Amino acid sequence: MLGALRDQPADKILTLMQTFAQDPRADKIDLGVGVYRDAAGATPIMRAVKEAERQWWEEETTKSYLGLVGDPGFADAMTELVLGDAVGREQVAAAGTPGGTGAVRQAFELIRMANPRARVHVPDPTWPNHLSILAHLGIEAVPYRYFYDATGGVDADGMLTDLACVPRGDVVLLHGCCHNPTGADLNPAEWRAVVDTLNRTGATPMIDIAYQGFGDGLDADAAGARMIAGRCAETLIAASCSKNFGIYRERTGILLAVAQESRLRAVAQDNLAHLNRQNYSFPPDHGARLVTKVLGDAMLRAEWQAELERMRRSMLGLRAQLAEELRRLSGSDRFGFVAQHRGMFTLLGLSPAQVARLREEHGVYMLGDSRINVAGLSERTVPVLARAVVEVSG
Ligand code: PMP
Repeated sequence: MLGALRDQPADKILTLMQTFAQDPRADKIDLGVGVYRDAAGATPIMRAVKEAERQWWEEETTKSYLGLVGDPGFADAMTELVLGDAVGREQVAAAGTPGGTGAVRQAFELIRMANPRARVHVPDPTWPNHLSILAHLGIEAVPYRYFYDATGGVDADGMLTDLACVPRGDVVLLHGCCHNPTGADLNPAEWRAVVDTLNRTGATPMIDIAYQGFGDGLDADAAGARMIAGRCAETLIAASCSKNFGIYRERTGILLAVAQESRLRAVAQDNLAHLNRQNYSFPPDHGARLVTKVLGDAMLRAEWQAELERMRRSMLGLRAQLAEELRRLSGSDRFGFVAQHRGMFTLLGLSPAQVARLREEHGVYMLGDSRINVAGLSERTVPVLARAVVEVSG
């Protein structure tokens, strides 16, 4: 049986990590994998999370099973964090999932259960996992215009034109904030235009929000998701706690299904529980428990928010420094978008050949599409990157 299997395409990020590890140069720079790093290059456990973990170690009395959708306290805390008061709690069905990836996967499966012919419209470009999970599930992915190479910003006109043609029954996938891989986000007016378009066509929005708190702040980053959930008939939201709580390997995420008609909540909730049962029975509890504790304790929450804010500001500082350095060295504003982008990622707009030169001649590693992880930089390495980018693209 196993002999009938075919080789799967190599994961580009993992391959890049391997090549980086084997590179003997001491001054090599890793801007590949999407993990937050501090100035020392480390990904430490956030202090409030560590404290919640200590408390939970003392309080936990059993590791018996929980309900199929996980701890209800986690669902309440995450609904509040993501949606604020945009909708009533009775409008939200929720299921804990293994990470944001698990939430994305469950959302796609829910879509397919509701409408086997549904297509999912995705921004061009999008997180590659969206495409590979959709392909794996046999769901057609249809790209819509999103990124405008010439400016490094959102092609709002192209996007709205494409979204206007999405029929009822199909799903439009939107990144809640800190778009991966481009770093280019919608502004509030553009979000409003997207809501109006969706309400005209009747297509169903799905929001993937994996970086809340990394862009303009916790509330600002959720504003688009809140607007959609508050004004569209139905909304699916896949949220990840990996980045903003720094608990990547704990696999903590949640899928929310929001319906204006609260009678739909029960059937959505039932189907979310069913999907969890079919795929892994129960979501992991440990990370969800830490998140619930941090969000539910005023002191831990304040400490977490302060640390998250420091991380956010540090990324903004690196962006400003990089944009300025690129402006100085290139004598032009063509990289000005670096300071406008939000979150960990920026698509630099370099060709695959230029990306290869950066790797081979300068020891600078980034994804083939020229996505960099800004958090992989430091005040010391920003000028090194800027010089190398200007040299290969000059
Ligand atoms: N969506 C997007 C757009 C992401 O970038 C990520 C993280 N790379 C995720 C979802 C999910 O991450 P995780 O499964 O680690 O929570």
